[in-house]
Amino acid sequence: MQWVLGAILCGVAGLLLLLLSSSLRARAGLPHGEVIYSDTADWRRCEKTLFSARCALAGRPDYVVLERKGYVPIEVKPGRVFAQPQWSDVLQLAAYCCLVEDEYGRRPPHGYLKYRDRLFRIAYDRRLEKALLTVIEQMRGDLHAPDVAASHNEPQRCMHCGYRAACDQRLA
Ligand code: SF4
Repeated sequence: MQWVLGAILCGVAGLLLLLLSSSLRARAGLPHGEVIYSDTADWRRCEKTLFSARCALAGRPDYVVLERKGYVPIEVKPGRVFAQPQWSDVLQLAAYCCLVEDEYGRRPPHGYLKYRDRLFRIAYDRRLEKALLTVIEQMRGDLHAPDVAASHNEPQRCMHCGYRAACDQRLA
């Protein structure tokens, strides 16, 4: 898995969050998202890759929307049906918030996570940012480990993974 981590830290923010430990959520005690309605007509596809030297990340949220306090990222997961945001998705969104902040020079107060039938507003507060940076730091440490175990049990995820052919831990 070392090569996967290398790819992540080199710039694939979306993949960063696939390797997260769910226990971190319990430790962080983070709030769930708030279900809201938003007019998707204002959403704009994010056409360029965003960079953050501070977070050592690059990536592209699905959409951004310009609100009163600046740009806000939106991550769309049409295949997901959950009553609450999943922690890995929350952290992925946090990574996009970090990217948006550094790219546009203004910290987004929240991001949006869209599942098939729900839209959550997730506050991008200092606690969530700290959790994100902690995970990035852990992953950076894993770059030097001889091997890193996969942290999920989702064959579906492996079926759609770009590293599937070379991964000896794939589940499908
Ligand atoms: S194939 Fe599965 S275990 Fe391997 S890197 Fe991809 S998602 Fe992770």
